[in-house]
Amino acid sequence: ATPSGPYDAVIIGGGPGGYVAAIKAAQLGLKTACIEKRGSLGGTCLNVGCIPSKAMLNNSHMYHQTKHDLERRGIDVSGVSLNLTQMLKAKDQSVTGLTKGIETLFKQNKVDYIKGSASFVSPTRISVKLNDGGETEVEAKNVVIATGSEVTPFPGGGIEIDEKQIVSSTGALDLQNVPEKMVVIGGGIIGLEMGSVWSRLGAEVTVVEFLGGIGGVGIDEEVAKQFQKILSKQGIKFKLNTKVLSAEKQGDKVVIKTQSAKGDKEETLDANVVLVSVGRRPYTEGLNLEAIGIEKDNKGRIVIDDQFNTSVKNVKCIGDVTFGPMLAHKAEEEGIAAIEHISAGHGHVNYNAIPSVVYTHPEVSWVGKTEQELKAAGVKYNIGKFPFAANSRAKTNLDTEGFVKFLSEKETDKILGVHIIGPNAGEMISEAVLAMEYGASSEDIARTTHAHPTLSEAFKEAAMAAYQKPIHF
Ligand code: FAD
Ligand code: NAD
Repeated sequence: ATPSGPYDAVIIGGGPGGYVAAIKAAQLGLKTACIEKRGSLGGTCLNVGCIPSKAMLNNSHMYHQTKHDLERRGIDVSGVSLNLTQMLKAKDQSVTGLTKGIETLFKQNKVDYIKGSASFVSPTRISVKLNDGGETEVEAKNVVIATGSEVTPFPGGGIEIDEKQIVSSTGALDLQNVPEKMVVIGGGIIGLEMGSVWSRLGAEVTVVEFLGGIGGVGIDEEVAKQFQKILSKQGIKFKLNTKVLSAEKQGDKVVIKTQSAKGDKEETLDANVVLVSVGRRPYTEGLNLEAIGIEKDNKGRIVIDDQFNTSVKNVKCIGDVTFGPMLAHKAEEEGIAAIEHISAGHGHVNYNAIPSVVYTHPEVSWVGKTEQELKAAGVKYNIGKFPFAANSRAKTNLDTEGFVKFLSEKETDKILGVHIIGPNAGEMISEAVLAMEYGASSEDIARTTHAHPTLSEAFKEAAMAAYQKPIHF
């Protein structure tokens, strides 16, 4: 076939990394194409990740609150019941609205959207197996690989996902009935978010986690403990320091065998639905990387340098398929920076200031170092903590669980990390990220006026606590 192009930039993958890179490239005047095989844009995040999970988290929270929390607020409702079909439909509508929105952005920015599966013929030539049948080739001066990640299968292959009884996050976003009992394997972010959804909708949820704490990588231990206490109060059961050995379907039940991390105790659990959420892994299937010599590490991640260059000239790589946290906003920042490297020769991502948010209720968020990391590195630090129970807005909202915790360098007062568990923690963390981008001290925050009465006064008072003393606690 005669190749189309030549393009200045071809992006493989239309997820948050890839589609943002494509739009940025076109905005900077590069002739750009984005190849995506899924049939819709937005990648894991918009189709089966961030967006549908947040739709379910928001609406299951509203349902649970309406049923269990409105009476004490002086709102009497009766006959509250769940219409799961409609809740799933609302989720699907938000997904479709947003994925279609990206198609419109592509049109507005003149990005060519090629629907198909990409495979390298050479570093500058890509063959595409088109979704509608047939094949085409594109010629590219620069390629950005943004093929993302996929669910890590259960190690050893012992547990087979059917997306009905034994599900990944994808199946957990689309269960047609509320299971009576659900076992979640892995107490990381996916396990806690999806476990919360189904627990609120009425399932009895048990989370089995290999480690001694929940929340996955990067969470502050003190926050993780508080988090577990709050979720336990909400009815989720936890089995920590426990490893799942197997899960087997027996009729309409699944039987799960577990072993204590030390190996001295075994137990059998049963459930109607099992969620396997033990992590995600880079996805490079079908790219034909071997043929052009692109290097991967032992975890399957494409190896890049600090300018997103792979081992092959003019081929860059960003997002979940390479190093770093598997987060949509991290992929987006890399998408922009990689294109700026192509277009201007420089670009920038600050890996010390990438926030994490768990969208449970209350939310959990953090940026920068944890206390355990600072201890391990021998850094001397101050802690400033302020509980939402002492914040006027949280009190008026009857939503007082959690705290804000600042970690600042003892000698200079520079902010090293901020950890929040509490109402609106996901929005509030942006102030900490901005502060860290500007190299702020906790005194800088403490001397900044925050509107009253707002939850973010708890943020300011935690900063005051780090540098002197808070007023209200
Ligand atoms: P992806 O989004 O995975 O996109 C890669 C795309 O490339 C895919 O659409 C794929 O079809 C396509 N592709 C792959 N190979 C080819 C090929 N050969 N040819 C053509 N196309 C190809 N992150 C957050 O920051 N916040 C959240 O709240 C959040 N919630 C999540 C909830 C769940 C349930 C899950 C599973 C993930 C969540 N994430 C969240 C993580 C987030 O989805 C990812 O970090 C993000 O999608 C990574 O973006 P990416 O562009 O690197 O890859
Ligand atoms: P994760 O790495 O966060 O958590 C997996 C957990 O499973 C770990 O705590 C691990 O110790 C445990 N585990 C592993 N094997 C086990 C076993 N045999 N028995 C018991 N426990 C076991 O992975 P995840 O929750 O699957 O999430 C995948 C990725 O998706 C993460 O990188 C996350 O960043 C991203 N994500 C982000 C958001 C968000 O930003 N809100 C939401 C969902 C997913």
